[in-house]
Amino acid sequence: MVLSVVQGREEESSSVVSSVFASRYVQDPPPRYKMPEKSIPKEAAYQIVHDELLLDGIPRLNLATFVTTWMEPECNKLMAEAINKNYVDMDEYPVTTELQNRCVNIIAKLFNAPSADQTKQAVGVGTVGSSEAIMLAGLAFKKKWQNKRKAQKKPFDKPNIVTGANVQVCWEKFARYFEVELKEVKLREGYYVMDPVKAVEMVDENTICVAAILGSTFNGEFEDVKLLNTLLTQKNKRTGWDTPIHVDAASGGFVAPFLYPELEWDFRLPLVKSINVSGHKYGLVYAGVGWAIWRSKEELPDELIFHINYLGGDEPTFTLNFSKGSSQVIAQYYQFLRMGFEGYKKVMSNCMESARILREGLEKTGRFQIISKEKGVPVVAFAFKGNDRKNLAFGLSKALRNYGWIIPAYTMPANAENVTVLRVVVREDFGRQLVEKLLFHIGIALKEVTDAASGVPMIRLTVEMKADESEMNAGEGTIHIPGASVHWKHDKPETDDTQVPIMDGKTKGVC
Ligand SMILES: *Cc1c(COP(=O)(O)O)cnc(C)c1O
Repeated sequence: MVLSVVQGREEESSSVVSSVFASRYVQDPPPRYKMPEKSIPKEAAYQIVHDELLLDGIPRLNLATFVTTWMEPECNKLMAEAINKNYVDMDEYPVTTELQNRCVNIIAKLFNAPSADQTKQAVGVGTVGSSEAIMLAGLAFKKKWQNKRKAQKKPFDKPNIVTGANVQVCWEKFARYFEVELKEVKLREGYYVMDPVKAVEMVDENTICVAAILGSTFNGEFEDVKLLNTLLTQKNKRTGWDTPIHVDAASGGFVAPFLYPELEWDFRLPLVKSINVSGHKYGLVYAGVGWAIWRSKEELPDELIFHINYLGGDEPTFTLNFSKGSSQVIAQYYQFLRMGFEGYKKVMSNCMESARILREGLEKTGRFQIISKEKGVPVVAFAFKGNDRKNLAFGLSKALRNYGWIIPAYTMPANAENVTVLRVVVREDFGRQLVEKLLFHIGIALKEVTDAASGVPMIRLTVEMKADESEMNAGEGTIHIPGASVHWKHDKPETDDTQVPIMDGKTKGVC
């Protein structure tokens, strides 16, 4: 059988092409920016795309992201089963719609929404992530404020939002796309979240809401929403305004209810009118799901709701996009059902424990100042002490890439730009064993960057090792440094393997 004919030449019959790598397809230059003229076999296409993707970072070692990188195989299976369902076909897939409504109610109850308490009529919507949820919540505030100003015959063309300078970029997007001025409370060295006192000072009659963050992206810290609520209530009373609060709980919304149930940050505070949370962060689902929850129906202006008559059914919707996959919503419901309160609490406690071990290990080096707080989302943000902090931070981030770890370094927002931090987001799948490996590698990388910074030439040393197969941690070998060789031998040590530089069972290597 002939597979393909190229320029009149008969190419590779299937009896010959038993392996993709024996075919010409892997030798042809891959078409990058133009659709190829001819088809190729599916095995070859798969292999070519798969191989190129090998050069991406490994998601589980990507400690930069808050987004879920591991789920149970059963849930992976459910997601794959739903991969061909368009979420928007609500009439055709009523069960999927029902699962989203259950999720909205579960989350609204978790956030103490008064409506969710009495009925199963919580007000909220599944989104692609917190960014879409924030756009929707922001639009609702803007519309409400404009309607009120119109009724009062006052100008309504200069709306603003008050936030900390530590807001996530989606707030800047919202401000630009929907023409709302963003008034940012500046940070200062040593204080990296929005100061509620300053925020309330900045509120004026054009402020559509104050946005507080539960779990700052930069260091995981919770902002003091309760104090903000108190101060803003006083100001509202004094001025006659009714400026509301939105809580951006993208990362903290699935941490605080389980670890700090007493902390009042949600709908228990009267001025909190809407909350967003990312299902794909500590909601424990892969990328592509977020939630916007409103206190009650009154907070959602009617004119933003679209009643679509699509493929036979009337469905009220409030989203920015139309078609999207169903898998994430289904996975979110799976997680709620599977984990329950108990499971989420255990996962979050484990993350906090891993964060603690990492924090203590970093402190032990004597080189770092910890910027994250013990209470917050399980994030460890740290900065170098002393001079040249910025270069050292970026150098360490780069050096750790050599070991596979992705740990970002970044400068803090205004007015704390002098501080450069490294940040590790501790997720469910970053267990004790990996924390200890990371600390070990940070130790080596620290020496590399410090030596490089002080002009010490890099010494290449080769190591030959003979590991005892039955006793992975025992072995002997020779270390060759230019001008000298050192023979070493040791038996299985008392301590665990993180102390011993035998990586991944390799018996020979270059450091
Ligand atoms: C991640 C994050 C966002 C954006 O959320 P996505 O779900 O990625 O769209 C917004 N705000 C905060 C505080 C975040 O951490």
